[in-house]
Amino acid sequence: MPLTPEQLAEIEALRATPRPTLRAVSEGMEAHLYRAHQVLDHGFIRVIDYMGDDAAIVQAARVSYGAGTKHVSNDEGLIRYLMRHWHSSPFEMCEIKLHVKLPVFVARQWIRHRTANVNEYSARYSILDREFYIPAPDQLAAQSRVNNQGRGAVLDGPEAARVLDILKRDAAQSYDSYESMLSQDGQQGLARELARMNLPANIYTQWYWKTDLHNLFHFLRLRADAHAQYEIRVYADAISACVKDWVPLAHAAFEDYRMGGTTLSAKAIETLKRRLAGESVTQEASGMNKGEWREFVALWGEA
Ligand SMILES: Cc1cc2nc3c(=O)[nH]c(=O)nc-3n(C[C@H](O)[C@H](O)[C@H](O)COP(=O)(O)OP(=O)(O)OC[C@H]3O[C@@H](n4cnc5c(N)ncnc54)[C@H](O)[C@@H]3O)c2cc1C
Repeated sequence: MPLTPEQLAEIEALRATPRPTLRAVSEGMEAHLYRAHQVLDHGFIRVIDYMGDDAAIVQAARVSYGAGTKHVSNDEGLIRYLMRHWHSSPFEMCEIKLHVKLPVFVARQWIRHRTANVNEYSARYSILDREFYIPAPDQLAAQSRVNNQGRGAVLDGPEAARVLDILKRDAAQSYDSYESMLSQDGQQGLARELARMNLPANIYTQWYWKTDLHNLFHFLRLRADAHAQYEIRVYADAISACVKDWVPLAHAAFEDYRMGGTTLSAKAIETLKRRLAGESVTQEASGMNKGEWREFVALWGEA
């Protein structure tokens, strides 16, 4: 379970005491505030706070006095224009603060996104919980034979059972050792900052993570993508669902231009033009290298 009954009671108490404000409020995001959205077996994301809404992006772009324009369609057009032309600073006017509980190996990928503010649970100060990520059977897959950085078919039968057994056994054993090293029962007890070092990377950690909408979109672009590892992708998907409710116009533009769109090189544009004119262009004639050509053909077909 991602949250204890005490933590849930604390959250409910906060939700039960709303206060009036003059700040911009996104109704969609208010519904997410404090609520934990479960991710993986013990993880979650919770929106702790946010600043701004779609109108704040428009307001900043126009450096205006009011709340956006009178017409939603104008706001939508402007937001799409900003997204299309990489005018990023108006999106930086919106901020989000999340509480995230995630396995350490996912945290290692996540922390590479440097344009955020982070405060992590201290395993020097506190004792970590006995909570480990154990993949669901449908995520227990073999090494991909075509992609060195990915997984292939799901493991079956006895191999899957053996792997699950190893993961559970090692986690339990290392946590038992952790507790035994920490114990002050008849011994001094090893410092927490040292005892943690042989815990496996599937143990859960937690942090507060704050970033602006521009950098959040960058994070989502990379981590909600099919090339990202499943275990971080599910966090990105959960965050993306909240962002959709928070800034629906900006999120729709992001989905359209960044997630659904693609960048074309000058060579790719030229090849497409030649194809439209009826020419059959080969890889050699396109000037693209093999990797570029493979990706080009995957999108636009062979001829
Ligand atoms: C599918 C996938 C596979 C990956 N594989 C690997 C891997 O094998 N090994 C590995 O080490 N990493 C890997 N990464 C991590 C990747 O290289 C990036 O470190 C990570 O995605 C963070 O991206 P970022 O630096 O753009 O984000 P952020 O750190 O949030 O930065 C956002 C942008 O700000 C600018 N910026 C931030 N800091 C600086 C700076 N100090 N100097 C200049 N510009 C800056 C850059 O324009 C950057 O794009 C992988 C990522 C993905 C999505």
